[in-house]
Amino acid sequence: MTAQLIKGSEIREEILGEIGKEVEQIKEKHGQVPGLATILVGEDPASQSYVSLKMKTAHQLGYKEIQDTRSEDISEQELLDLVEQYNKDDSIHGILVQLPLPDHINDKRVLNAIDPDKDVDGFHPVNVGRLMIGGDEVKFPPCTPAGIQEMIIRAGVETSGAETVVVGRSNIVGKPIANMMVQKGRGGNSTVTVVHTRTKDMEFHCKRADILIVAAGVPGLVKPEWIKEGACVIDVGVNRVGEKPSKKDPNKMVPILRGDVDFDAAKEIAGAITPVPGGVGPMTITMLMRNTLNSLKYKLGLM
Ligand code: NAP
Repeated sequence: MTAQLIKGSEIREEILGEIGKEVEQIKEKHGQVPGLATILVGEDPASQSYVSLKMKTAHQLGYKEIQDTRSEDISEQELLDLVEQYNKDDSIHGILVQLPLPDHINDKRVLNAIDPDKDVDGFHPVNVGRLMIGGDEVKFPPCTPAGIQEMIIRAGVETSGAETVVVGRSNIVGKPIANMMVQKGRGGNSTVTVVHTRTKDMEFHCKRADILIVAAGVPGLVKPEWIKEGACVIDVGVNRVGEKPSKKDPNKMVPILRGDVDFDAAKEIAGAITPVPGGVGPMTITMLMRNTLNSLKYKLGLM
């Protein structure tokens, strides 16, 4: 059997189309568009390219977007003041501070200064608490886990009563997705197990999974024989395992990316599986756009 491919790149287009329509409707009816401000400190090339991708997507959707770039020597107080400026700006509904920040700045202090009602990344302790409570309390689910859950739902995979096993317990992927899958409601109601480096028998747990979500950052960690026949496998891992010449420009080298699951063998056993790249990756920015739109909708009393 060859598994159904769950392609994040296709689901992204579907969701961005839905968002674009809603933005137009809200603009027509309420005269407002979602506003997203991203604060970038320094010139780290990876951060620059990630921020510009976010801004490009926001621009295409008709959002107001501000990329506020500051020099490496900005003081912590200046950065806190800048965050406060966007907290007070009524045309801004989402604020992002791109990490990493320079060593002299306490990133926790800066991230916690973002108004929780504009924290579209969903990492502020208030939003982590809201996610834990679940239901109507949730405002901004963190973007990668929200993307994972949305992919599972849109692939038509039944989550209610399913055995879901999450490999990894990070604050940005493992813990929040485990929490989301166990909640009552759409895409939830699973029986969730979380495994990590101290788990005694990973294979035993993975083999029981109807839904296996792997976010460890270890290429090929999950062996094909650990996968239950027909399971839904979501591979969050993005690992650089080498370099190859670019298809567009053969003189340029691009990274070879692999997931945490042995994809070629796993796709013959699983019922549905995400590829790497092109699986979970494209979903993160998509869900960031959705959170920013929702922030405006909360403000307008539309949610
Ligand atoms: P992280 O903070 O390094 O956490 C990795 C987790 O996996 C930890 O809980 C760790 O367990 C567990 N783990 C590592 N090696 C393991 C092993 N051999 N056996 C069992 N558990 C193991 O990583 P992360 O930020 O969650 O990211 C995980 C992967 O997802 C990375 O490849 C990252 O690049 C990718 N990612 C992709 C996206 C996206 O596509 N949009 C977004 C975020 C992350 P301990 O807690 O016991 O150490």
